[in-house]
Amino acid sequence: MEFNPADNIQDLQYFGEFGGVNPSISDSSTYTFLSAKTMFDTFEGNAEGCYLYSRHSSPSNLYLDKAMAAMEGTETANVSASGMGAITPTLLQLCGSGDHIVSSRTIYGGTYAFLKNFTPRFGIKTSFVDITKLDLVEAAITPETKVLYCETVSNPLLEVADIAGLAKIAKKHNLKLVVDNTFSPLSVAPAKMGADVVIHSLTKYINGSSDTVGGVTCASREFIDALKNVNSGASMLLGPTMDSLRSASVMKNLRTLHIRMKQHSYNALFLAERFEKDGLKTVYPGLKSHPSHELYKNMINPEYGFGGMMTIDAGSADKANELMELMQQKNLGYLAVSLGFYKTLFSAPGSSTSSEIPMDEQIEMGLTEGLIRFSIGLDNDIERTYQMMKKCMVETGVLKMSAEMV
Ligand SMILES: *Cc1c(COP(=O)(O)O)cnc(C)c1O
Repeated sequence: MEFNPADNIQDLQYFGEFGGVNPSISDSSTYTFLSAKTMFDTFEGNAEGCYLYSRHSSPSNLYLDKAMAAMEGTETANVSASGMGAITPTLLQLCGSGDHIVSSRTIYGGTYAFLKNFTPRFGIKTSFVDITKLDLVEAAITPETKVLYCETVSNPLLEVADIAGLAKIAKKHNLKLVVDNTFSPLSVAPAKMGADVVIHSLTKYINGSSDTVGGVTCASREFIDALKNVNSGASMLLGPTMDSLRSASVMKNLRTLHIRMKQHSYNALFLAERFEKDGLKTVYPGLKSHPSHELYKNMINPEYGFGGMMTIDAGSADKANELMELMQQKNLGYLAVSLGFYKTLFSAPGSSTSSEIPMDEQIEMGLTEGLIRFSIGLDNDIERTYQMMKKCMVETGVLKMSAEMV
C-alpha cells in the first residue's frame, strides 16, 4: 500500500479523560506518584505510561509526537518549542568537537547562522555546498564528517534536494542524513527515501495559523531516546520544551493540513504559471522551467502538489519593496516573513530571513536583491487574486504592459 501521511494521521484515535472527542490537555509541570519506587523508575525512563516532569514528557506532547511520526513514517518523534529548538539539539546530539557537517548552502537563515557562527565554538565545522550537485556533496565529505544536512525544498531559492541520492551517499560514508521538510509536509516523506532524521518548523504549514512557534524531530526510537536522555540528551538538557497547551492547539490545526496543502499548491501553481507567462522571472518547483522539476515530480505525492512557496524577481530591491507595499495596501497579503498562513505572505529574503548570509555569498547562490518570496494563501478565487496582483505589478512597473495585457 502506498504511504499516505494524511491517512496515517487520520487513523490515529484519541479520547479525552472524560470521553471528550479531543484529548485532555495536561496542564501540569509535575506529576504525583503513589510509590517512591515508581518515581525512580520513571526518572530512569523505565515506567511506561508514567510522567514525572513536563520537560521530560507530557501526555499532550506525546499525542503530537505520535501524529508527527505517523505523518513522516518514522518510529517516533519529539516536539519542541520552535523549529530551531528541533534543529539545534538534533545537530548537537549527532556532532561533537572535531566533527564535520556537509550542509546545503541554501538553508534557513537561522540554521545557516547556527552552523556558520555558533557550532564552530564547540569545534564543529561545516562545509556549505550546492546540494543539487551530488558529486560536490560527496567531494566535501571528510573522515570527520558525521552529518549531511539539507532542506527538501530550500529556503528561499526553492532548490530541490535529491533525497534518495543523498541517502545513498550518507549510507556509503556512514553519515546521518538530516532533512528539514518544513516547506513540503505531506508532499514529501524524506524518511521513506532514506533520511535518518526529518525536522519541521511546526510554525509554518503544519500549524498554519501563524499564532505560535513550534518544531519537531522525527526519527528512530533510538535517536529520540538519545535526544531525551536525562544524562546526555541535547533536547532534555538544553530544554526547548513545547508547552502542552500549544501542542494541543497545533494538534487541532494538523487535522486540516491535507486540505490546506492542496489549496496552497493549487493556488501557487496557478499564479506561478500565469506570472511566468506574463514574462516575470518566476521560480516554482511545479514549473517545467524549474531545474529540478522532473526530479521533484517523482519525489512528491501528487495529491498534495508542489507546495505553496514561489519566488519572483522584481528587478531591484526598490521595485520589490514598492510592489510588496502596494499588494499589502490592496489586501492581497501581508508584508511579513514566515509561511503557511491562510493569507498570502511576502518578503524580500535578501534583507530579512536570509540577511545572516553575507552579500557576496547571496550573490553567488543566486539570491538577488529584487527577489520576493511568496507563501501563497488559501484564496478562494485565485483568478481574481491573479488579476489584482497583476494590476499591482503593472502599476509599479515590475511587469511591463504589453498590448495583450491591457
Ligand atoms: C522557519 C524555519 C525554521 C525555523 O523554525 P522556527 O519555528 O522559526 O524556529 C527552520 N527551517 C525552515 C525551512 C524554516 O522555514
